[in-house]
Amino acid sequence: MDILENVALKDYTFWKIGGPADYFCLPTNSGEVREAVEWARSRGVAVTVLGGGTNVLVSDRGVEGLVLCMRKFSGVKTEERDGRLVLEATAGSPKSELTKQFLKRKLAPALFLCGLPGDVGGGVVMNAGVAEAVQPREFVEITDWVEILDLQTLQVRRLQKSEVTWTYRHTSGWQPGIVLAAGISWPLQADEEIPRKVKDATKVRLSKQPLELPSCGSTFKNPKPHSAGALIDQAGLKGYQVGGAQVSPKHANFIVNVGGAKADDVKAIIDHVKAVVRDKFRVELETEVKFLGRWA
Ligand SMILES: Cc1cc2nc3c(=O)[nH]c(=O)nc-3n(C[C@H](O)[C@H](O)[C@H](O)COP(=O)(O)OP(=O)(O)OC[C@H]3O[C@@H](n4cnc5c(N)ncnc54)[C@H](O)[C@@H]3O)c2cc1C
Repeated sequence: MDILENVALKDYTFWKIGGPADYFCLPTNSGEVREAVEWARSRGVAVTVLGGGTNVLVSDRGVEGLVLCMRKFSGVKTEERDGRLVLEATAGSPKSELTKQFLKRKLAPALFLCGLPGDVGGGVVMNAGVAEAVQPREFVEITDWVEILDLQTLQVRRLQKSEVTWTYRHTSGWQPGIVLAAGISWPLQADEEIPRKVKDATKVRLSKQPLELPSCGSTFKNPKPHSAGALIDQAGLKGYQVGGAQVSPKHANFIVNVGGAKADDVKAIIDHVKAVVRDKFRVELETEVKFLGRWA
């Protein structure tokens, strides 16, 4: 496996933003993931994992050490067993591959998965899901086990769903580690309405979200019982712009790259939005997006 130097990460993030990784590799299997980690350890450099890059803000000053991009570690094994569709997906498999398998059989998980970009590993790490009252609506509901490379022992461990702590857009109990694969299943109970519902949900998303521009989806978590988007909108911040980054006029929780945005532009917007919402509503917004690289 090649370990490259000084690779521009903007080419690996959905936002099209980010400076270079000191070192960069694209492992294709768990052996190569371990090899990469051992390589980094032997040189005393840090390891950062990148999935589909749909929920990260990479610093303009780049990422220190080795970035492992999981997108080539891709593959989904499919089986129908004991009345369930059983999938074994490696971390870099696109979520759209799961959607395809569920949709083909008219199974309910297709409905929430159809709106989620990025990879399976990122889906587990973020407990990705949708706000709509559909069932299932988060990764926790479809995942049976998670396989990780334990970064303390460098052993591969399979954790049952109950050994992982699943909360809103976050999981814990597996760190320090790298997610290698997930076991996913759902009862084989076809619902003839699923294909239509998926089409309708896609239409709604296209009409409400600025999907024509690079973003990271929702920038902030919803501070329950509020909606982050509604608070930002009520604060009059739609259209607020710094450099090439803008609070989307279409959906206030999306910060879009309208052309040549820097990570520092996005960070300046995030800080401004948090300050205004705090002042106006006494609500502390927390980012859903993960900051990678040199921010200090
Ligand atoms: C247009 C758009 C719409 C979106 N809509 C939604 C939505 O409706 N609901 C929702 O929940 N999210 C949404 N998102 C956010 C994002 O798609 C999800 O959080 C997704 O699950 C992130 O997956 P990823 O592979 O891109 O992860 P990345 O963005 O690459 O990484 C996210 C975090 O996980 C870590 N990570 C990734 N892979 C691994 C691994 N294998 N092992 C260890 N750590 C890892 C990274 O270091 C980082 O901290 C949206 C994003 C966009 C751009």
